[in-house]
Amino acid sequence: MGLLIDGHWCQAASGATRTITCPADGHVVGSVPEAGEVDTVRAIEAARRAFDSTSWRTTSSLERSRLLLAVADRLESETQTVAAAESADTGKRLVESRYDVADVVSCFRYFAGLIPKDSGRVIDTGNPTTISRVQHEPVGVCGLITPWNYPLLQASWKVAPALAAGCTFVLKPSELTPHTSILLMQYLVDAGMPAGVGNLVLGAGPTAGAPLSSHPDIDMVSFTGGLATGRRIMEAASATVKKVALELGGKNPNIVFADADWDAAVDNALTAVFLHSGQVCSAGARLIVEESIHDDFVDALVEAAEGIRLGGPYDEKAQTGALISAAHRDKIADYVAKALKEGATLRCGGREPDGHADGFFYLPTILDGCTASMTCVQEESFGPVLTVETFRTEAEATAIANDTYYGLAGGVWTSDASKAQRVANALRHGTIWINDFHPYLPQAEWGGFKQSGVGRELGAQGFGEYLETKHVYQNLDPKPSGWFDVSAKEAR
Ligand code: NAD
Repeated sequence: MGLLIDGHWCQAASGATRTITCPADGHVVGSVPEAGEVDTVRAIEAARRAFDSTSWRTTSSLERSRLLLAVADRLESETQTVAAAESADTGKRLVESRYDVADVVSCFRYFAGLIPKDSGRVIDTGNPTTISRVQHEPVGVCGLITPWNYPLLQASWKVAPALAAGCTFVLKPSELTPHTSILLMQYLVDAGMPAGVGNLVLGAGPTAGAPLSSHPDIDMVSFTGGLATGRRIMEAASATVKKVALELGGKNPNIVFADADWDAAVDNALTAVFLHSGQVCSAGARLIVEESIHDDFVDALVEAAEGIRLGGPYDEKAQTGALISAAHRDKIADYVAKALKEGATLRCGGREPDGHADGFFYLPTILDGCTASMTCVQEESFGPVLTVETFRTEAEATAIANDTYYGLAGGVWTSDASKAQRVANALRHGTIWINDFHPYLPQAEWGGFKQSGVGRELGAQGFGEYLETKHVYQNLDPKPSGWFDVSAKEAR
């Protein structure tokens, strides 16, 4: 198994392969085909044929719903296999991968339930001899490109609504984490997905991925990943005016007021930033704390952060796992070094832990004394690094939290419900948590303001991204309009 093109599992045309190793301990997980441009173009052509020349796009919503439900059931019954594959590729703890699989199952079930509810709408034209109907149709052939931090979850947020809508697709997961996408495609094939409807290519972004944003046969590209790649994809897609959906990075503020529940705020400030070692697009990596509680709050965080245990997927004592690669670990180390040069104060971490020589780990790190003008506050580290800023007034807190070119998510901690609502309304971020951090629901739209993205995933709008809207107007009693007075001209 490797590439899935037009219903057939195949190797790359070049015969090239890539070895996948576990970032937590370096063991070889497997070897997969490394697609090149030629393989991706073949996959795009297969998806185009399946969309244009088969009955897939007009299958009933109930039939598509059945496919999604069957895959959800299969994923649920194979949770252990899927979670183990995810942990091997990403180095994350098995318990986290199991949560991820449960979320994937919910995603497929949510979209399965949503499809039959979309029957368009009839418009009252005020004229009984005309019918006006607005209907939704699949957008067409979709290029789906996903990152390595939540490989199967990010794929499911795209694959499930694309299939629900009646689209065909080519999925390209991160080259670092291919195995759960292979399993997902196998489960879809087993559940009856017709040949060519869903295709899988594996390989590097600039080669295997690039045609998905430039090829004229792609109607829509949906991308989750970094800002720089997102810009490139948007630019490439502009040549053929593709529909573009982008889920990009974030530098997410977590505002803590002095009247917040202390224990909950401390505990969740840690989870906000250090979950999955900070490799979360919505990580609360930017603590903005009221000046009057700053010293005690940061002391409490430092004490707790120093106790966080790191370890591999099967280390039951571990509380968070590995970073994806040596290159990513080194990028985080550079980010911290730069922050210190900018004047930040290192309160804890700032180095690799002892005793994990076979894997890629970095200690939970807290940088105090930061301000919005510092690079470390503006740029995403995508690692276990918290920057700390302070405020005195509510207005100052929201202004600081909005001082970013990102706008993905943010948290507010206060026991004053009116203040919480005022701040939530003032923040220009796509998700706001009040007295919580991280929960999301498949029913609620997910996505970013500003440079965190374009469009939404999940929810009704996440489904709508994969639909075109068509207005059909029918005249049941056609007559000459008389606009150009054609009959008078004939008489002359
Ligand atoms: P990345 O941008 O390096 O890669 C993402 C995907 O794009 C990979 O599959 C990669 O191979 C592919 N790619 C790279 N160059 C390409 C090109 N020229 N054409 C087509 N495809 C190309 O991102 P990453 O390092 O895998 O993921 C981390 C980033 O993802 C972070 O910035 C994170 O915030 C973001 N992210 C965002 C969300 C969200 O919901 N907003 C969720 C998860 C991750």
